[in-house]
Amino acid sequence: MEAKDIKKIKTLLQSSENIVITCHKGPDGDAIGSTLALYLYLKKQKKNVKVIVPDDFPFFLKWLPESDHILLYDGNKEESDSLINNADLIFTLDFNALHRTGDMQEILSTASAKFIMIDHHQQPDTYAEVTYSDTSICSTCQMVYHFIDALDDLNSIDTDIANCIYTGIMTDTGSFRFRSTTSTTHRVIANLIDIGIDNAKIHQNVYDSNSYNRLQLLGKSLTNLKVIPELNTAYISLSADEQNEFNAQKGDTEGVVNYALSLRGIKLAAIFKEDQNNGLIKISLRSKGDFSVNEFSRAHFNGGGHTNAAGGVSKLSLNDTLEKFISILPSYKKELS
Ligand code: 5GP
Ligand code: MN
Repeated sequence: MEAKDIKKIKTLLQSSENIVITCHKGPDGDAIGSTLALYLYLKKQKKNVKVIVPDDFPFFLKWLPESDHILLYDGNKEESDSLINNADLIFTLDFNALHRTGDMQEILSTASAKFIMIDHHQQPDTYAEVTYSDTSICSTCQMVYHFIDALDDLNSIDTDIANCIYTGIMTDTGSFRFRSTTSTTHRVIANLIDIGIDNAKIHQNVYDSNSYNRLQLLGKSLTNLKVIPELNTAYISLSADEQNEFNAQKGDTEGVVNYALSLRGIKLAAIFKEDQNNGLIKISLRSKGDFSVNEFSRAHFNGGGHTNAAGGVSKLSLNDTLEKFISILPSYKKELS
């Protein structure tokens, strides 16, 4: 972070009483971990601070400290709008364009508060007073650690804050295996372990809390896996009926796309999920090497993300979306072969 930004952040923090922290729709481990870590830190600075997230988050994150105090915008619009309107300062974490908050976009774009963005996705929008954006960092949680470090406050990271930061780094790096995992990441992790977190327990809490239905849904997903060998592509589709059959809950399909990517030789993997509530197909894309799913998703599926992990949406039917995907791919033959 640049010195002038750190100075600005200090001034903004000093002059702000009411602070709101938010993240993207469909919050994941990094989104919830980073908002809670920052929340716990600012509470220690005696700020009046609230975490408001667009919609519910997976069960496997509900053990996180103070996660029961998170306000869901979905279902608590009036209370949330009032908190946002009264805020002096709003932190937007783990996203970089207000439309990523879904229905919260409207109130956020009219709020009089100043914004601070902390995020690691590509091509950030320019709504924030301070944009702390770094696409080379594996997770927003690691950035929150650096943020607290920049404020010369590492000593205030207690085990609760460390638990939150560790969780987001772990989930966004696929348990420290993605390219984004650097020696700095491991140094930060080492410091968190020294603070006293139980890393094995965190992994268990997040990854060993499957329901029977979730495993059955994984079975269905793997049955639906299709491969296009000449384009080194593998994809999975899940209709609304298939998800309902196994009573799919938030987060139940998280990580499933990685099974497609784990196939020998595969460079591009995708999962297409029919979302009955929104009448959309939600797409998760993953790649190995230089093929940018961020660019691919921006070009064809109104989405974005990182080079090797991105998301997007389609308003076509599930079948038409799959057909569109299959018909686009040959134009990427050179990159995918
Ligand atoms: P996932 O596939 O796990 O939902 O998301 C992969 C990455 O892409 C995450 O960093 C996520 O924030 C981002 N992402 C997911 N969906 C969208 C989307 O619709 N638009 C944009 N811009 N980014 C997305
Ligand atoms: Mn993230």
